[in-house]
Amino acid sequence: MMGVQYTFDLDQIFSKPGPLTVAYGMGTDSTALLIELVKRGIRPDLITFAETGSEHPRTYAYLPIINAYLLDHGFPTITIVQYVPKRFKNGPYDTLAGNCLANKTLPSLAFGRKSCSIKWKARPQEKYILKYWPPGMEALKTKTPIRRLIGYDAGPKDSQRGAIIPNPKFYYAYPLQFWGIDRQGSEDIIKEAGLPQPGKSSCYFCPSFKPNELKQLALEFPDLAARAIALEDGARPNLKVIKGLWRKGTKKRPGSWRAYLEAFGLLPEIRPEHYSATPSPLPPSSYKAAIYPGLMVYDHTTDPLFYGKQTMPALEGILV
Ligand code: SF4
Repeated sequence: MMGVQYTFDLDQIFSKPGPLTVAYGMGTDSTALLIELVKRGIRPDLITFAETGSEHPRTYAYLPIINAYLLDHGFPTITIVQYVPKRFKNGPYDTLAGNCLANKTLPSLAFGRKSCSIKWKARPQEKYILKYWPPGMEALKTKTPIRRLIGYDAGPKDSQRGAIIPNPKFYYAYPLQFWGIDRQGSEDIIKEAGLPQPGKSSCYFCPSFKPNELKQLALEFPDLAARAIALEDGARPNLKVIKGLWRKGTKKRPGSWRAYLEAFGLLPEIRPEHYSATPSPLPPSSYKAAIYPGLMVYDHTTDPLFYGKQTMPALEGILV
């Protein structure tokens, strides 16, 4: 069996055979990575983004912006994949929020693990590439590693990271690190390209939220903040060690989002539907393109209304 392969030599990865793919996160670093690829004339064969059904609205809002940029530069648009759960212990769900609500638990990051990203982000993208994307299927047949570019930046935090589930069928590289581009550098690249900043890409209840991000969520999207608190409330009887989405808390903030919002008088109205695993409060996708076993694959450019509905000025209030 091939070992997991990483490279810091980009000339080497760009000259290798095998499909060139980008793991796009719709956040600052991976957006800067796409722009740099455009500037350097390195066109990937596929750009994937995995959607949990529970992304922050600013992430959905950025999609038509980056797709328009990619189309303008002759790049492939974003292929969106979504994990489709099949077996349910405690009732159906179709999003990560629903997953937590149905099972009365929190996203695994709250417990210091990464299985929420693995199940809803990394695996669906790799499954699509290996099982349903023809160039990926061909590469698998000929045992040619698929090149996978990841937008980790050159800052101290991202430099410690590796592929979330290393898979020997892929050849991973982190071009921003090779080019010495840190978070500020990524923001500058996006600005120079004339694009708005995408901000952080995450689920709207991600335990990695900073206190000011939670306050902003409660003020701008009280329905989503209410659902995040419903996740905590539902999971509370099962929490033995941690207190909530922020785990045990620190001197600066409690472990529970509910306690934090209550302290600031920002607790939104939480209605019975917020505790329901389905449907999600986010609008259903109108652009479903293909359904595979355990996976849905969307191409937003196939929705003729999408660009008409989502114009740059209309998004200004959402993007940071
Ligand atoms: S954004 Fe946060 S909650 Fe969502 S999958 Fe990633 S780590 Fe889990």
